[in-house]
Amino acid sequence: MKLRKVTAASAVVLALAVSVTACGGDKKDDASGGKKIKIGIKFDQPGLGLKQPDGSFSGFDVDVATYVAKQLGYQPNQIEWVETKSADRENALQRGDVKFIAATYSITDERKQKVDFAGPYLLAHQDLLVKKGSNITKGTDLNSKKLCSVTGSTSAQNVQKTIAPKANLRPLSGYSECVAGLQSGAVDALTTDDSILAGFAAQDKYKGQFQLVGLKLSNENYGIGVKKGDSTTVDKINKALEKMVADKSWDKAVKDNFGPARYKNEPAPKIGDIVK
Ligand code: GLU
Repeated sequence: MKLRKVTAASAVVLALAVSVTACGGDKKDDASGGKKIKIGIKFDQPGLGLKQPDGSFSGFDVDVATYVAKQLGYQPNQIEWVETKSADRENALQRGDVKFIAATYSITDERKQKVDFAGPYLLAHQDLLVKKGSNITKGTDLNSKKLCSVTGSTSAQNVQKTIAPKANLRPLSGYSECVAGLQSGAVDALTTDDSILAGFAAQDKYKGQFQLVGLKLSNENYGIGVKKGDSTTVDKINKALEKMVADKSWDKAVKDNFGPARYKNEPAPKIGDIVK
């Protein structure tokens, strides 16, 4: 009897140990016995990270992440996609919710205090999306206008600091909400990366309604975020990204995802090459 109790107690200890090692977005899947990897992406950004009505995922970030995961030893069916909104990304990595994040995530000195980055793998620029025929043509036109951006994004920060500190900024939690506001007239403009705005403008439901102003208001160097200190994963991801460019999978992902939006991307950046 006594022996049984001891066995039960050690079973609990063992179970706890197993659940602790399962943290870090890199765990065994109980059902299949196969390993799974959790990857953070956006769910509402067409052309970059989008959850389709049928539950599948598409976009440049999804293709980059899928390629990288394969190099880390995970097949597409072993990937669990997790939504990481702009304001949640550092926390998600610090908590170990995901192994890495590919979510239009710009490398910045401020973010590097909390997380590490592999890459960059794309260079985008901040721009404005407005209704066709709008008289907003430059950054300073935004002062006193209603402007939507997303909490925790560099886009919102840049507006407040430099582009148009007097703009009436409405921060929301995702860009799809901003686009809805632009369509309804609740806001006069939406600001974020041109790569993201082009994807929205090209959507069937918005076709012909919006235009990108075409300003390069900033340099956004997209990196893949990992937990601070995980240099092994950073190195592996950098190797994977280099391979993706060398074997032309990067070009294919650009064509597949940005082609329909006619987004003119910058050439593939070199690993470690940050454009200030
Ligand atoms: N790339 C910018 C950023 O990391 C804007 C896009 C986003 O919010 O994901 O903040």
